[in-house]
Amino acid sequence: MLSKVLIANRGEIALRILRACREMGIHTVAVHSEADRTLKHVLLADESVCIGPAASTASYLQIPNIISAAEVTDTVAIHPGYGFLSENADFAERVEDSGFIFIGPKPETIRLMGDKITAIDAMKEAGVPCVPGSDGPIDENDEKGTLKMARDIGYPVIIKASGGGGGRGMRVVHSEGSLLNSIALTKSEARTAFNNDIVYMEKYLENPRHVEFQVLSDTHGNAIHLGERDCSMQRRHQKVVEEAPAPGITNKQRNKIGERCAEACRTIGYRGAGTFEFLYENGEFYFIEMNTRIQVEHPVTEMVTGVDIVKEQLRIAAGEKLSYKQEHIKIRGHAIECRINAEDPDTFMPSPGKITNLHFPGGPGIRVETHIYNGYTVPPFYDSMIGKLIAYGETRESAMARMRIALSEMVIDGIKSNIPLQADIMKDSAFQKGGVNIHYLEKKLGL
Ligand code: ADP
Repeated sequence: MLSKVLIANRGEIALRILRACREMGIHTVAVHSEADRTLKHVLLADESVCIGPAASTASYLQIPNIISAAEVTDTVAIHPGYGFLSENADFAERVEDSGFIFIGPKPETIRLMGDKITAIDAMKEAGVPCVPGSDGPIDENDEKGTLKMARDIGYPVIIKASGGGGGRGMRVVHSEGSLLNSIALTKSEARTAFNNDIVYMEKYLENPRHVEFQVLSDTHGNAIHLGERDCSMQRRHQKVVEEAPAPGITNKQRNKIGERCAEACRTIGYRGAGTFEFLYENGEFYFIEMNTRIQVEHPVTEMVTGVDIVKEQLRIAAGEKLSYKQEHIKIRGHAIECRINAEDPDTFMPSPGKITNLHFPGGPGIRVETHIYNGYTVPPFYDSMIGKLIAYGETRESAMARMRIALSEMVIDGIKSNIPLQADIMKDSAFQKGGVNIHYLEKKLGL
C-alpha cells in the first residue's frame, strides 16, 4: 500500500481523502493556502505545508509549489480531489515525471477525455451511445455541407467547443438562418477562452435528465460500474441535489449502459475512478462527457453499493486489483445528497464569514461530509460549497423523509446557507415524484 499521500485540495473532499488514508494506515500531507491554515484536514494531517497565498492561482493551482511540497515531505502519491488540478493532464504528467504516483488516470487518458471530440470518438468506438452530431469538427469552409448536416440532424442543434468546460463554449441554434453566424461566434469565443477554436455540432435535446455512471478500473484490466446517479436538479449547470439510483431506470438499462462504460474503460486502459455523464431523454442515453476524477456526488453511490470509492482509488493507485467483481455489486436502497452552500438562499450571493453556532443532524441513514466546525471562518476565496448532507433509506420515500428531518435539524449560524432552498426542493411535488429534467429547478426558481 502507499505509505504517504499528499492531498492537493481543500475543504470537504480533502477531509474525505484524509479519512480514507487514515483508515488505511497511510500517512497524510495536507497542502494549504495562507487562508486555509485552520481547515479541519490541515489540523488533522500528519504533516502540512503552506503552498502560497489565499488566491488559488497562487496556491492550489501552483504546480511547482505542490511538487516541491511532495518532495520535501517524501510523499509517494498525490490525490488531486475534484476541481483545481484534478483534470489537468500537464499536472498529472509533472507528478509522474517527478517520480510520484498520480491518483487518477494516465495523463494521456485525461488529455483524450478532456477534448470532447476525441472523447466522443473513443466512446463511439467502445460502443457507448452518443448524441447524434457532426462526428468531428465543423469545417468552416464547407458552408453547404454544414447547413445540410444541421438539416439532417434536425433543429434545434447545439454548437460546442471541443476544448470547452464548466458549461462554457456552447450555443443552441433553433433555425438555419442563424447557424453559420452562431458557429463563427462560438469559434471566436472558444479561441479566446480555451485557446482552441475547434467546434462540433450535436442534436440539442430539449428536456433531458442528467444521468451519470460511476466506474472503477484497475491496472490489471478489470473494470466495473457502480450504477448510476441522477443529477438533474441543477442551477446554471451546477448540481444542487443528486441521488442514486436514478428514478425509473430499470436494472436492464443500468446493466446495459453500465457494462458499456466498463468496457470502454478496458478499451482505453482507464485507471482509477471515473464518471460517464449522459443526457437521458425518452428512454435513451446519450454520452456527453467523461470526468476523470472523484466527483462531489460520489457518496450517494457509496451508500447504495457499500463501496468506498476513495479507498478503491488508493488501492488502484498502489497497483492492487479492484476489491470487487461486477457480480458483487448490488444496488440496495436509495440515497440523496443535498449540497450545502454558504450563500443567500434567495439571491445565491456567496456568504462567507464566521460560523458562530453549528449543529449537525444525525440518526439512521444520515451522513455529513463537511470540513466546517463551530468557530470556523468560511473564507471568501473559494467555492461556496461547505459540505454535503446525505440521506440513505431502504426506499426513495424513506431517504427523502430522513433528508427533510435532517435539514430541519441542521443549524449553521453566522453565515447564510442554502438549507431553506434544499428544504423547499425536498417538499417539491415533482421532485417527490422523481425524474425531473435539467431545466426544472431554474423554472421553479423563475430564472
Ligand atoms: P461542460 O464540460 O462545459 O460541463 P457538457 O458537455 O458536460 O459541458 O455540457 C454541459 C451541459 O450543457 C449539460 O449538462 C446540458 O445541460 C447541456 N448540454 C450539453 N450538450 C447538450 C445537448 N446535446 N443537448 C442538450 N443540452 C446539452
